Amino acid sequence: MRFLPALAFGTLMLPLAALANDPNSYAQPDQVRVTHLDLNLHIDFPHKQLDGQATLKLDWTNPQAQSLVLDTRDLKIAKIEAVGRDGKTTPLKYALAPRDKVLGSKLTIATPKHPAQVRIVYTTSPGASGLQWLTPAQTADKKLPFMFSQSESIHARSWVPLQDSPAIRFTYDAHVTAPKDIRVVMSAPNDAKHPLDGDYRFKQTHPIPSYLLAIGAGDIAAKETGPRSAVYAEPSVVAKAAHEFEDTEKMIATAERLYGPYRWGRYDILVLPPSFPYGGMENPNMTFATPTVLVGDKSLVSLVAHELAHSWSGNLITAASWRDIWLNEGFTTYVQGRITEALYGKPLADEEALLSARALQKDIAAMPANAQKLAPDPRGVGADDSLSDVAYDKGSWFLRTLEQRFGRADFDAYLKGYFDHFAFQSITTEQMLDYLKPNLIEKYPGKMRWDEVQAWVYGTGIPKDAPLPDSPRFSAIDKQRSDFLAGSLAAAKLDAKGWNTQEWMYFLDRLPDAPPLAKMQQLDAAWHLTGTPNAEIGMRWYSHAIAAGDKAVWPAAAEHMIRIGRLYLTTPLYKAFAKTPEGLAYAEQVYAKAKAGYHPLTQQAVESIIAKAKKAQH
Ligand SMILES: [Zn+2]
Repeated sequence: MRFLPALAFGTLMLPLAALANDPNSYAQPDQVRVTHLDLNLHIDFPHKQLDGQATLKLDWTNPQAQSLVLDTRDLKIAKIEAVGRDGKTTPLKYALAPRDKVLGSKLTIATPKHPAQVRIVYTTSPGASGLQWLTPAQTADKKLPFMFSQSESIHARSWVPLQDSPAIRFTYDAHVTAPKDIRVVMSAPNDAKHPLDGDYRFKQTHPIPSYLLAIGAGDIAAKETGPRSAVYAEPSVVAKAAHEFEDTEKMIATAERLYGPYRWGRYDILVLPPSFPYGGMENPNMTFATPTVLVGDKSLVSLVAHELAHSWSGNLITAASWRDIWLNEGFTTYVQGRITEALYGKPLADEEALLSARALQKDIAAMPANAQKLAPDPRGVGADDSLSDVAYDKGSWFLRTLEQRFGRADFDAYLKGYFDHFAFQSITTEQMLDYLKPNLIEKYPGKMRWDEVQAWVYGTGIPKDAPLPDSPRFSAIDKQRSDFLAGSLAAAKLDAKGWNTQEWMYFLDRLPDAPPLAKMQQLDAAWHLTGTPNAEIGMRWYSHAIAAGDKAVWPAAAEHMIRIGRLYLTTPLYKAFAKTPEGLAYAEQVYAKAKAGYHPLTQQAVESIIAKAKKAQH
């Protein structure tokens, strides 16, 4: 996934109870494991719900087991039955516990006879945390409604009753019905030529963890971008998306050359409406992506490199728990950089690595100690901790350090071997380290000490000798920024005509937190940043301008906040407004207009920012 800041708002609070298994799941894989899911669902747009049934195939690991415990959140359960090997059904007794704020409702099904399959007949709630329902007016083309899922991290349980832990992998079949003219897609091979008849079947033959279960439905057209790739998007968006993502096949081929075959068959991309709360989500066979990367010049397609890279790191080898999430995101951010370098050159890859490294250096000291660690102590992760960009950017920095110490050829061979060794498994940080030690660290002695590895993985902060890439263009921007702030270089004289998106991001990122108002006005007069269609630049520009007290940008900032529901591009503006009482009042007005178009995760994040600011100001 890119990007993950929602975790800061509560999905990753690890309760101290239930540590025997995954602390974020009620599942008991030491008793029984789900090996296959059969879904039969109808998409009911008027009621904003999915109706149907989930049939779970079970592998009983403990002969004494008495029950099957599943994760659910806000599901209405009509009936649960055992399905015998002959297909005969028998009703089962069950208990649905009161709803826990973080984990949802534990569903305990009495199964002393260890049925081969259990079927749950259920309906989702209109407020399901893992689904968003958009009216036709909230889509680009305004003709048909739209719905999509976002299951990572623990939201699959809000639309399917299952063992919602990344440690448990299963294959799935699905039969989904929808109104005519609606196209349904899932995280399984999709057929771009499927008639729009409202009747769809899917088959995911690779075992996947529950957070990779995904569904999307709406007025969706498809356009091929290569022999095994296509983009799916609303009809008015699909041509633009196909152009932006035309290098997809080259990206797949590059990743294959580095890390071995792409094992999933097709790689398609679904471009969602702007309310999608993340940059991208690596749903197998069908990446879900934000439209905010469609800027016309391919400058933000490293998002596709990132989601594609997850086909190896994350989807092929999966972090066994959310505490180990850096195994997904750190490795993926590293691989993303390698794909970007191969396709668009080392200067751009270095710029992206530097951008994230500098941002992490700035933020990490303010984080709680445990949250600064790649592999935090799970018992010490409390309500105020978050994973944020540590998993991504400290994780990839560690891998770049390994590459530098061991040399690219040997490190590439190591990583390819790692992907083969753990393919289609969910592993812990410790399993990764047990493989790293003999196969890299001890195989090439004298390159890196074991205590250095441990400092990266279990230590706080960033090791002092962590290597930074060198970017002459960024160095020149640092010089221009400081000359501009010191008054020796006029805004209009900045050499910014040829700056790419990353270079503007870097220039704005390193402005003072609250720059002088006059400086911001000079910048805007010279470069017309207010109203930019590029949301990466807009987020940074508006945050700084609001902090500088530049009220002239407020309406354009509000327009950005209403248009875009992607957490990472929207929440910083709420935070900037929330710093003053007048700004906070304005942000509340903006939120009242934006709320209906926001995903439940974005609503939760914004409401938390507003509530915190109100508390602080009273
Ligand atoms: Zn990711």
